[in-house]
Amino acid sequence: MADRFPPSLKPTVHFKTLKREVFGRVTQCRIGHCFTGEYYSKFVPSENVDCPCGEAFQTREHLLRECPQYEDQRHVLEAVSRDISLPEILGTKEGIAALAEFLETSGAFTKSGKPRRSPDLPSFEDEPEPAGTDDDGDG
Ligand SMILES: [Zn+2]
Repeated sequence: MADRFPPSLKPTVHFKTLKREVFGRVTQCRIGHCFTGEYYSKFVPSENVDCPCGEAFQTREHLLRECPQYEDQRHVLEAVSRDISLPEILGTKEGIAALAEFLETSGAFTKSGKPRRSPDLPSFEDEPEPAGTDDDGDG
């Protein structure tokens, strides 16, 4: 149902504008290769298939349409498709734009299912030693 665009050699507008990590999750979500119990049940038997909210079998549809973890962000999807129809969300331009926003703000479909922390600013200790300050004679 995500396969509704003709093939193209040009990168999509999403590819060019989204953060790389979010773009990756949008793609994984659209093709179904994503961090869900549904996927684990087929490909990663060591992982649990339930959802932290208590749902026994976590599916992509559950996360997008009903998981209470993402109640606060779901309006973004509903604005495009009132009943959050998966073909609309996964297979139309407007749907994918909404999906990207939903994924970015909610953290859904990450391994932890929570928003990713932005990396801390580098501290002084992380700075590499400037070149030429050692005394082994090569600087
Ligand atoms: Zn859930």
